[in-house]
Amino acid sequence: MNTIISFLKVSPKLVYLFCALALFLQIPGRYTPAAERESGEIAARRTMLDRDLRGRGIKDERVLAAMEAVPRHLFVPDRLRDSAYDDRPLPIGAGQTISQPYVVALMSELLALKATDTVLEIGTGSGYQTAILARLAASVSSIEIVPSLAERAKKVLDALGYKNIELKIGDGFFGWEERGPFDAILLTAAAPTIPEPLWRQLREGGRLVMPLGEEGKSQRLIRARKSAGQPVIEDFTAVLFVPLRGAVQEPRR
Ligand code: SAH
Repeated sequence: MNTIISFLKVSPKLVYLFCALALFLQIPGRYTPAAERESGEIAARRTMLDRDLRGRGIKDERVLAAMEAVPRHLFVPDRLRDSAYDDRPLPIGAGQTISQPYVVALMSELLALKATDTVLEIGTGSGYQTAILARLAASVSSIEIVPSLAERAKKVLDALGYKNIELKIGDGFFGWEERGPFDAILLTAAAPTIPEPLWRQLREGGRLVMPLGEEGKSQRLIRARKSAGQPVIEDFTAVLFVPLRGAVQEPRR
């Protein structure tokens, strides 16, 4: 009998302990469905790949593999995570946007990168396009004019472990002389002409891809190949990008 009483005396404690332990063990599985969310994001990425990239004509397998590997949801503001894999641009703060997946893939494809190439990117923004380029080339130098965006991009890219990316805060119009010449240059903001310093920093045979056009007017996505120092220009499609700011907008003297 004694043993039964003492058992009963102890048992509520034991029951509490047991419940607490059970709850504790359940919490990771039930209340933080991180794994579930992750698999949702992998599925969303596959859909993006099939529907919006392959489905719209992106063929370069290296580009497709890079787009499948980079977790785009980490580059968008938290509140927009659920829309990260929709095929549309999203706001990233400071009045800027992360380009839509199809356009990121198309521009990457047009750069025709080899694994040994060096790339200059103007307009780091969220850093998403930077990450894609870093998977396709030997190194990426990227310039962003808005410090807060550059700082956030740096955090995300560092956390993902990229070692072949160098970021700089400044006006990309002037390029990055010390790192050049580059095999490829990408502008992710629109300008009415090819900025001269960037053209100078492009290697012979190199490719420059940019949205060409005045602010508020129609822009064209073009590729300029440097052939005997001269641009050979191909025109691809209509696009809508934020304008390149800084020196390019200052009145010409
Ligand atoms: N590739 C980015 C797109 C960002 S939008 C992404 O995928 O997130 C274009 C970016 O160009 C903006 O972040 C804007 O601040 C930046 N930008 C505009 N003018 C610039 C300039 N003169 N030099 C460098 N960056 C510039």
